[in-house]
Formats: sequence, C-alpha cells, structure tokens
Amino acid sequence: GLSGESYRRRHEITVTGDNIPPPLTSFDSTGLPLEILREVHNAGFPAPTPIQAQSWPIALQGRDIVAIAKTGSGKTLGYLIPGFIHLKRRRNNPHLGPTVLVLSPTRELATQIQVEAIKFGKSSRISCTCLYGGAPKGPQLKDLDRGVDVVVATPGRLNDILEMRRVSLNQVSYLVLDEADRMLDMGFEPQIRKIVKEVPTRRQTLMYTATWPKEVRKIAADLLVNPVQVNIGNVD
Ligand code: ADP
Ligand code: MG
Repeated sequence: GLSGESYRRRHEITVTGDNIPPPLTSFDSTGLPLEILREVHNAGFPAPTPIQAQSWPIALQGRDIVAIAKTGSGKTLGYLIPGFIHLKRRRNNPHLGPTVLVLSPTRELATQIQVEAIKFGKSSRISCTCLYGGAPKGPQLKDLDRGVDVVVATPGRLNDILEMRRVSLNQVSYLVLDEADRMLDMGFEPQIRKIVKEVPTRRQTLMYTATWPKEVRKIAADLLVNPVQVNIGNVD
C-alpha cells in the first residue's frame, strides 16, 4: 500500500520481485510469536530496522531472498527470527541434524550470531551450536551429538566435520549465507558449494552481502531460486 511505499522511500529500501508484502514497520504489526516479541522488548528495540521490516514478511512467505545492506543494519535478526518461526513450523527432531544452517566467514562473526540466536531463541527452546576453525573439534562434535536446531558455522570447519560424517545436513531447510561477499573474498567458494550439495534442494535460501559484484551474483544465481532482492541504502 501507500504507507509501505513511503516507508520504503524514507528508508531507501528497493525491492525487486513479484507481489512484495508491505514492510512490518512496528513490532505490534509483525504477528511474531509472543516469546520472541518479549525478547525484542527486553532488548529495548524500539522498532524493526528497515532490513528487518522488509525482509521478515518476505522470508515468512518461504521465499528466497538476497539482501544487500551494509553492516550494522540488523541483518542477523532479519534472518534468525524467520528461521525460528520456520523451526516451529517444521518441528524436526534435532537429533537427526539441524534445520537451520547459517554460514559465516569468521569465528568472531559466527560467535556473535550464536550469541544472538541463544538470546532470542532461548525462550522458544531453540538450541544453537557454533562450528569454527582454530579450536579443537571435540567440544563442537559433542554439541552436535546432543542434537541441535541451528548450526552457525564457518565453511572450512563445517566442511571438515562433514568429511568426518559427524553431522547430517539432510534436514536443513533454511539456509543462510551471511556476508557472502566476504566469504568469497576469503576463498571459501569451493567449501560453500560442497556444503550446499549436502543440503536438500527443497529449502529456503537467504543470502546477505554488503556488496554485489559479479562473483556474488553468480553464486546467488546458482544457489537461490527466484529470489526477491532487497537493497537498503545506496549500495551498488
Ligand atoms: P548487521 O549484521 O547488519 O551488521 P547486526 O545484526 O549485527 O547487524 O545488528 C547490529 C546491532 O543492532 C546489534 O547489536 C543488534 O543487537 C542491534 N539490533 C538488531 N535489531 C535491532 C532493532 N530492531 N532495533 C535496535 N537495535 C537492533
Ligand atoms: Mg552481520
């Protein structure tokens, strides 16, 4: 509607795709589960950020998204909260493997995502494990063996653990590639492609990137199906 249009203009949101739902401009209008709204309230967040406002309703429709937005725009909850709702709908057994998989370029970023996932997912009884290199595999494997809903991983370490056959990705139906441009810059493309081969093709895929060069466009074209593109601000 008109108010959606003016919100988009005011926040420099550009969306490309068919039948785009209006942005959810306040938490009251989101229809998010109460336990998640409570966490958002406890965190003192006044309103969804523009990327959240526009990508939540699209993600909740089950559609693929490629979002181009700079850091600090609230992308993490932009994909985690629809991921939590996806998990509630699926009711998969965490002992058979994760349902939500987030790939992240570095240990630091992966850990931050896990902290956010635990903070906002705890009251929904969502479990999250973080897999990254430069640390012993033992504790990470133990966490996986306990059963987990969400895995946040760097591509190198997840690939090592997949080669050991210590985790199955055949229940993953919500896949996030966070900071895709950075993962490609760091040379993770072969690992990403190997990992995605183990994820069923019937899935929802969300890709987040700060820049939109041709390497990122190429991997988006290969891994996403008819994605809605959301740009925030004048990133290219
Ligand atoms: P990005 O991944 O886009 O760089 P983050 O997801 O790391 O951004 O979010 C940046 C900061 O903003 C985090 O500290 C996060 O907790 C906070 N944040 C997320 N959503 C909101 C919101 N709706 N209102 C206020 N702060 C928020
Ligand atoms: Mg981020």
